Amino acid sequence: MNYKITLLPGDGIGTEVVSAAVKVMKAAAEKFNITFSFNEQLIGGCSYDKHGTPLTDDALSVCYDSDAVLLGAVGGYKWESLPQHLKPEAALLKLRKALGLFTNIRPAKVYTPLLSASTLKPEVLEGTDILIFRELTGDVYFGEPRGYDEEKGWNTMVYTREEVVRIARNAFDVAMKRSKRVTSVDKANVLDCSQFWRKVVHEVHKDYPEVTLNDMYVDNAAMQIVRNPRQFDVILTQNLFGDILSDIAAMITGSLGMLPSASLGTKYALYEPVHGSAPDIAGQGKANPLATIASVAMMFAYSFQMNKAADLIYDSINKTLEAGYRTADIFSPGTILVSTAQITDTVIENFNLIFDEQALGVFTL
Ligand code: NAD
Repeated sequence: MNYKITLLPGDGIGTEVVSAAVKVMKAAAEKFNITFSFNEQLIGGCSYDKHGTPLTDDALSVCYDSDAVLLGAVGGYKWESLPQHLKPEAALLKLRKALGLFTNIRPAKVYTPLLSASTLKPEVLEGTDILIFRELTGDVYFGEPRGYDEEKGWNTMVYTREEVVRIARNAFDVAMKRSKRVTSVDKANVLDCSQFWRKVVHEVHKDYPEVTLNDMYVDNAAMQIVRNPRQFDVILTQNLFGDILSDIAAMITGSLGMLPSASLGTKYALYEPVHGSAPDIAGQGKANPLATIASVAMMFAYSFQMNKAADLIYDSINKTLEAGYRTADIFSPGTILVSTAQITDTVIENFNLIFDEQALGVFTL
């Protein structure tokens, strides 16, 4: 099997973390007997410098012709004074819209060796593994009318049935492969739009009788994520609430450098770390590549249905952290400070090791 992958490394540490993740993809491909054809394109400031636009139509058509897109990050000091539509970040909105990426999936998963990196108590966090499904192309972000004048400002919260149905199906489908629990988060006690959201989610739920669905108001959900995150498995929510809840849940993992994401549409899929281009550390070999490597794990699971490869990548990350290896952003006294390249090589060594052990049926305690 050959998969076509578009690489959009972007700016700053984007190039460093994407090349690290590609190394892991190549190692996994070798073990799982698949091949990848990579096509690298410019996005963000580097595209503006070369073509006068942060995303060309040519780069976009390469994305249309691929099985998955892996993005690094865009942006940097150099391009901050450009007009809004030429800023590197404008490319992200164009890309998400063009590819119709309406479901954003962000895991908030705790790696046991990093339990102490979070500001929350280890005993509260231990074992947490939440998947947040945030609707990405509707809600107050896009609803019309919108605007402000001297006296007032206004936005429109709106969802169509189709918009709710398609993301609810994605969330229930994935829940079926996990612990079959979905929490739908809304504000149905106050907002009509949320009442509609809730009604449609329950209609879709009828097709998934094995899944337990419960509803939660967003204010309570924010509190519960911090109070007892283990109670959640899949969280399904509107764009606005997901924006806020996914940042709250980000604190569970302790570092931006650990957070992967997937954005899915009906035809296309994009994988990227949650962090930005980190111009303060770019080009110094200090970037933590683990969020991008974990994004590749999500690609294996969601785009190629290769759950075993995905789990192996997560296990390799965990084993690397267990052995004490840390990039600067997650370093603490008593651990071993390593570069982007060193931590990547260690993840790959562990990947090969765990794969070979499992192939031989060797079980380690
Ligand atoms: P940032 O995520 O780039 O950096 C925030 C802090 O976290 C910095 O101190 C940085 O060094 C650190 N950091 C981030 N990722 C890291 C990693 N993988 N390893 C180690 N340390 C890491 O956010 P920012 O500083 O607010 O933004 C910098 C630029 O990135 C801006 O131009 C912003 O617009 C852009 N940005 C892009 C994206 C994206 O491409 N998806 C997302 C957020 C910000």
